[in-house]
Amino acid sequence: MPHTHRLTPGQKIYLNFTPADGKKFHKNRDKAEKKFKKLRKEFRDLQARLYAENKHKLLLVFQAMDAGGKDGTIRAVTQGVNPQGVRVTSFKAPSTIERAHDFLWRVHMAVPAKGMIGIFNRSHYEDVLIVRVDNLVPESVWRPRYDHINNFEKMLTDSGTIILKFYLHISKEEQRERFQERIDLPEKNWKFSFEDLEKRKQWDDYMLAFEEMMQNTSTVYAPWYVIPSNQNWYRNLAITHVIVDTLRQLNPQFPPPEGDVSGVIVK
Ligand code: ATP
Ligand code: MG
Repeated sequence: MPHTHRLTPGQKIYLNFTPADGKKFHKNRDKAEKKFKKLRKEFRDLQARLYAENKHKLLLVFQAMDAGGKDGTIRAVTQGVNPQGVRVTSFKAPSTIERAHDFLWRVHMAVPAKGMIGIFNRSHYEDVLIVRVDNLVPESVWRPRYDHINNFEKMLTDSGTIILKFYLHISKEEQRERFQERIDLPEKNWKFSFEDLEKRKQWDDYMLAFEEMMQNTSTVYAPWYVIPSNQNWYRNLAITHVIVDTLRQLNPQFPPPEGDVSGVIVK
């Protein structure tokens, strides 16, 4: 069950025919929420051990269309986790300095160190998404990036990083409703930008870009998961399940004491 939504290397995906509706996978919202909370508790315990062991690194990558739920996912999944062991990086349009370097330069600086969980809210994948859809560079520049990314992620995994990549899949209708809510509710206005409407017009181009991106960069060592995300409760459960299952297999351990502590009395 945890890996239902994982793409195998080279797997072709048609997002139009891929369910964004979590109800297709879980009928009962109450039960899903209870299970999510149980898993999140286990995630907190596993994270404490990952941090103490100070050996492995976990990188979680989140990509989605606007209003796809990246922020909400990060908030829900990491709630209660020791903030000291987690670092969230949100990738915006590159600055002048960042643009003067190769596209992975700023990304490499943000990858997790030993014992840490790194969370990418957007990522190096923007360099084959918005960059492609808006023709910011020619195809001869962005297409080779699939290989660059695969090689970069292989190097990271060879250095002890576990990589999980999540595409939060919402339907075009769901995006419409979420945008409308951001317009109608004053407390959500700040999340709305007119630029979002422009990007919505490019929906089909984005779907193609996501499809090709995932087909070319889902690898055994850094797989993509296409998470049905129209319902937050299913999305949170599915993602936490993948993370917890991965950490269970890693099975991080509290380090042993420095020496024999039996009988040591603190005065
Ligand atoms: P979000 O929409 O993820 O909640 P936000 O609305 O807070 O984020 P924005 O400034 O709207 O912040 O989003 C960041 C913008 O930067 C996105 O439009 C994204 O496509 C763009 N971006 C990110 N990386 C790159 C890149 N490498 N090249 C060009 N644009 C990029
Ligand atoms: Mg935005």
